[in-house]
Amino acid sequence: MKEMQFLVQYSNEEPHYTVTVRKEKRNITALCTCPQGGAGLLCKHRLSLLAGKAKIVIGDNADKIKDLVSWIAWTDVGNAMNKIAEIQKEIKKAEKELADATANLAKQQQELTEARNKLIKVMGD
Ligand SMILES: [Zn+2]
Repeated sequence: MKEMQFLVQYSNEEPHYTVTVRKEKRNITALCTCPQGGAGLLCKHRLSLLAGKAKIVIGDNADKIKDLVSWIAWTDVGNAMNKIAEIQKEIKKAEKELADATANLAKQQQELTEARNKLIKVMGD
């Protein structure tokens, strides 16, 4: 069994937590000492680490993130992380489409108002 530990901090406002990742054959476990992790919930610390985000590591082993990413490749954890990344990409795309559609809606509503005002004016003449 291989094990890595990372001291992490997501933002300056929160305390430090320790994420422990263990690899046994192709089985990966990741534990975090934060309240969410302790409650068995998926926390941002583990999500960020497994996504390869070294910037949350405040210990001196941030370079080990590369090893962690290679550990999880082709495991269930890696596949699940890929799926999450894929869905996040789709959400970003959908958010942009929604923003574009919202802007277009506002433009069309403005044009409708102008056209109605013109009708009122024409009818009044
Ligand atoms: Zn955590």
